[in-house]
Amino acid sequence: MFKIQGFFAERAKHHNASDIKEAFHLAEKPSVISFAGGFPGPHTFPREIVKKLLEKVVSERGESSLQYAPTEGVSELRKLLAREMTREGVAADASDILITSGSQQGLDLLCKAFIDPGDVVLVEIPSYMGALGAMDNYEADKVGIPLDGEGICVDLLETTLQRLQREGRKPKLLYLVTNFSNPAGVTLSWERRKKVIELAQKYDFLILEDNPYGAINFLEKIPPHIKTLDQEGRVIYLGSFSKSFMPGIKIGWLCAHSAIIDKLTMVKQGTDLCTNSLGQYLALYFMKEGYLQEHIGCLTDIYRKKRDTMLQAMHRYFPAEVSWTEPRGGFFTFVTLPAGINAKTMLTKAIQFDVAYVPGNCFFVNGQGHNTLRLAYSQVELEKIEEGIQRLARVISEEMKG
Ligand code: PMP
Repeated sequence: MFKIQGFFAERAKHHNASDIKEAFHLAEKPSVISFAGGFPGPHTFPREIVKKLLEKVVSERGESSLQYAPTEGVSELRKLLAREMTREGVAADASDILITSGSQQGLDLLCKAFIDPGDVVLVEIPSYMGALGAMDNYEADKVGIPLDGEGICVDLLETTLQRLQREGRKPKLLYLVTNFSNPAGVTLSWERRKKVIELAQKYDFLILEDNPYGAINFLEKIPPHIKTLDQEGRVIYLGSFSKSFMPGIKIGWLCAHSAIIDKLTMVKQGTDLCTNSLGQYLALYFMKEGYLQEHIGCLTDIYRKKRDTMLQAMHRYFPAEVSWTEPRGGFFTFVTLPAGINAKTMLTKAIQFDVAYVPGNCFFVNGQGHNTLRLAYSQVELEKIEEGIQRLARVISEEMKG
């Protein structure tokens, strides 16, 4: 091929083939037990219900289920989601909802609408890689704040805000995955949610509250959304059907002040015109016919068992120097290895031992996290989890011996 490199925009030049992609390629061999992919378990998809609802949607809605939809989304779905948000404590009507092609598109539209090159964006360390990628596409200056078992460390957030103020740098956005986060598997406490909104008011920034895992909740009441505390329209909430129903329809939504929704609708017109209609009607029927709640009940049973199996195996087999988060929902646990062990280089050995994970450094924006890794229990078959953890324990023990 002729020299294409010079044609790429500056912002696209950092998208290079990575070692991790190469390693994942190897992890595709059938003998590998992979804890890498954060996908839903393939056996969780409600195939029979989807078949029935597809037929119903096409016969009852005819053309409109097959035609382009309004850019802001099918109005019945927007109304139903507004009602659901209201039930969850966020007073909303349909004009506050934008249907998106997955919440990933919500992140892209938000970055497109709000980020100029060099704008400061605050993120948790570690943070969701897909959001970091969306921010990179618009050349954001990402500033990281560590999290602990209660979510983002608000005292460190405050000192970072003070430092930025002294440097004359004003952050525009704070991005948070509030429940059972990807990759850390932690939930932001109620006290900290209150502090975060207080800081947003004081230092004048917007909050992106990303919550794709909230429905996958194993045992407890999670704190209300940050958006419930939002008096000024500073919080933009992102929801998704990808984990609670299926990613095959790629339907998400954004709940925000209607002035933000109007702007994002215009931005979306130049992005994909509209979200797919058939998927929107499927999500609508899945919700309004009462399947969603029942399905979420089944999902939480399945994922709870997988989580329990993984954590028990980690307690049994991992060396005492290794620590990890104990998620109370969602798909992930985040592992910290002894300092000096590099999870990225260890991956090659892990794949030789037929086990895979995601090295944690790619979730960090401060060049750290080399001794961390993310394990997803969501996709692996329950029966293979213990064996996979045993293999990984062997790899870690060998690595520790040097
Ligand atoms: N946010 C987070 C934290 C995620 O983990 C994901 C998917 N892995 C997304 C957003 C995007 O989800 P979707 O586009 O499928 O709704």
